[in-house]
This record gives sequence, C-alpha cells and structure tokens, in this order.
Amino acid sequence: MDRIKRLFVVVLLLFAGTVRAQVDLSYYLPEGYTYNPSIPTPASVLGYQVGEWHVSHDQVVMYMKALAAASDRIQIEEYGRSYEKRPLLLLTITAPSNFSRLDEIKSHRNDLRDPQAAAPVESMPIVMYMGHSVHGNEPSGVNASLLSAYHFAAANEIADDLEDMVILLDPAINPDGINRFASWVNSHKSYHMNGDPNNRELNEAWPRGRTNHYWFDLNRDWLPVQHPESRGRIAKIQEWKPNIVLDFHEMGTNSTYFFQPGVPSRNHPLTPKKNFELTEKIATYHAKHLDKIGSLYYTQESFDDFYYGKGSTYPDIQGSVGILFEQASSRGHLQESVHGPLTFPFTIRNQFTTAMSSFEAARDMRVELNQYMQDFYREAMTEANADPISAYIFGSKDDAARVFHLVDIIQQHDIQLFTLIQDVTLYGVEFDAVKSYMVQLN
Ligand SMILES: [Zn+2]
Repeated sequence: MDRIKRLFVVVLLLFAGTVRAQVDLSYYLPEGYTYNPSIPTPASVLGYQVGEWHVSHDQVVMYMKALAAASDRIQIEEYGRSYEKRPLLLLTITAPSNFSRLDEIKSHRNDLRDPQAAAPVESMPIVMYMGHSVHGNEPSGVNASLLSAYHFAAANEIADDLEDMVILLDPAINPDGINRFASWVNSHKSYHMNGDPNNRELNEAWPRGRTNHYWFDLNRDWLPVQHPESRGRIAKIQEWKPNIVLDFHEMGTNSTYFFQPGVPSRNHPLTPKKNFELTEKIATYHAKHLDKIGSLYYTQESFDDFYYGKGSTYPDIQGSVGILFEQASSRGHLQESVHGPLTFPFTIRNQFTTAMSSFEAARDMRVELNQYMQDFYREAMTEANADPISAYIFGSKDDAARVFHLVDIIQQHDIQLFTLIQDVTLYGVEFDAVKSYMVQLN
C-alpha cells in the first residue's frame, strides 16, 4: 500500500474512532420525544455513555434497579440465577394504573388459550416480551436494553400507549456469557480504537461468550429447558403468554441488519401461515424506522424459523409471534467491514430502533394479535378433535428417571399431563398405570 493510501486509512480510522464511536444520548433517541428529567439516564448511573464501554452484567443490574426505583411504570423481579449466581431480571413495564390489575390481565391471557373461555380481545392489553443477548458475545442487544428501558420509563409521549400494553423486558438472558464477553473486549480496548479485524479485542479466547457457564447455547434450550436461565424464563413466558417475542442477536461483521420473516421454505410446517403474514406486517414497521435513520437491512434471504427450541420460534407454536433480529457485529468497539468502519454505537442504535418499531407495531396491532392468539387455540382444538389420535401415552417400566425428566420438560411448557387409571397395552407395548402418563392432543 502506498503512503497516501495508508495515511487515508489511518485518518479514516481516527475519524471513526474519535467522532462516530463517542456519541451522546441524542445519537440514539428518536425524534419527537421529551423525557422525564427525574428518570436517570444510563450515563448518569454507569458513568459513561451507552456504547463507550460494553456494559458488564452487574452494571446492567445496577441501572435497571435504579430505573425501577425512579419510575412508577416499572416493576422489577428476579426470576432466577445463572450458574455463576448472577440475577436474572425481568422488568414489567406498563401504565402505573395497570399494576393493581396484573392478575386480571394474566387471567384474561389464560382465557386466550382456553377455547371455551371468552377473552375480551378488544379491550385487553397486548403483551410484548423483549429478550436481549441470549448469545453473550452478541452485545448490541444487552447494551440496547439500557436505552429501551430508559425510553419506556422516561418518554412522556408514550404514557397513553402504555395503558394498553405490557412490556416484559429481559435485559440479559445469558448473564454469565455476557459478562465473560464484556470483560474480554473492555480489557483489550485501547485509547485510540483499532478496527483491524486481527486486533486482539476482536478475537476473544475460546470458549467465548456465546454460551452460558457450561458452554451450552441457551438459544437451543427453549424446548429442552435444561438450564436455570431457561427454566426461569420459560416459567415467565408461560405465566404471561406474550403476543410478541423479540429476540436480539448479532451476525457476521460484513452483513447489515436482518429481521424476520426468514427464508420462507425454512419455516416450520406446524406454524400457521397467518403467523408469517403477521411477521411480515410487523416487518414493515422495522423497515420504516430503519429507513428513517438510513440503516441497511434485509429479510427472507437467510435464517430459519424451524426449531422450536429457539427464542424466535418457540412462541410461533403458541399463538404468539417470535421475531429474530440480527445485527452485523462490531464485536468490540470498532471493526472495519466491507461497508466501512462499523462502530459499536451504530449496532446498538439499530437494535434500539427496532425495539421502537416493535413497540409501534404492538400498539397498532393489539386487537389483531390478541384475536390471533385466541383463533390459534380454537383452531388447535378443532384440529385435535378431527385427528384420529386423541392422546399419547408414555412410560417406562425400568427407567423411572427417564420418565421423570420427560414429565419435567412437558410441565415446564404448561402442558397438562394425566395419569392412567389402569394398565394398558397398546401396539404390543405394556404401560404400567403407576409408571405412565398421558398427554391429550386437545
Ligand atoms: Zn445469536
């Protein structure tokens, strides 16, 4: 490379590092909102602006607790602990007047799943769950959660919208992986940022932050629910039965931004077609919001919606709509890409922006999505009644542990189990009444 060209690259990187990677809060926040000054901004608690450093998990906890203490729109709860004993947090965000009737709201949601019940779909709130950085080394999610929580707590203009909406915000699905990764990139950050992909900051040591403490990919565990993070989370999902489930991820540095729908041929055949139509309708909101900030994006050209053990697919078999977001990763604070320097704040802003577009979609589609969930379970009942198979029986004479663990998994998903009143032999297999269970298809 000749000297001029080299100089140009250096200047470009300095520009990217000193101007674009150091941003203030207004870089992120959407136009047209005013913010309640009594709600602490992330920087006022963390001591640095979002995106300047990778937030550690204890700092996430610190900020979310500060927000909950300051805002009457937020209730915070600990729904479990990771293996390394980090608290798993869920923020329930809604209009203050709704907190006295959360039980009533949940009971109406149960009615959506009961084909005999009449849920008030026209008047009941919509519930939107937001899950961040199940993969700990996909950090724009958890860092964007700081902005989303701040915006929902402080934006004056959304007060009315929150009357009809409950947001469940999980800032950090995988605390141990998130913290492992944040420690790596923060400890290798230099005063003048270096976006060379060979930079040590951008090449974390194995086993990397994607997985939890035992190196298990938690985004494969929504169905088998073998880890404490998943067990606590699935219990909350079943308690609330959200209409929309958002799942914030990252992909390769040279990509742009992806949101579902994914590749149509890679949808699970049991997921109703209507689910994809609703996903497509919600997608128009993301497109509109990303257009506004000039970010590139795409849909349908990659990513499946097949395996129900993933966060964006698990909801699709339960009358809900799961949405996968994939942001091109800066991994550390800055990384060169085919599109130019990719800064960490830029990745955070895109994720925050689709949180805003999802909020708008949820608000506008409230009745439609509640109706969809009710229709989903009514249709499921009709299909079950038309099926020649009415139930499955399982059991094991010699391996009680195997039966116990299957029962445990099924019950995590709020599926009813029945015991047998007598021994039965089916297709040549004997089922001992005290060692067998039955799941009815209806
Ligand atoms: Zn991921």
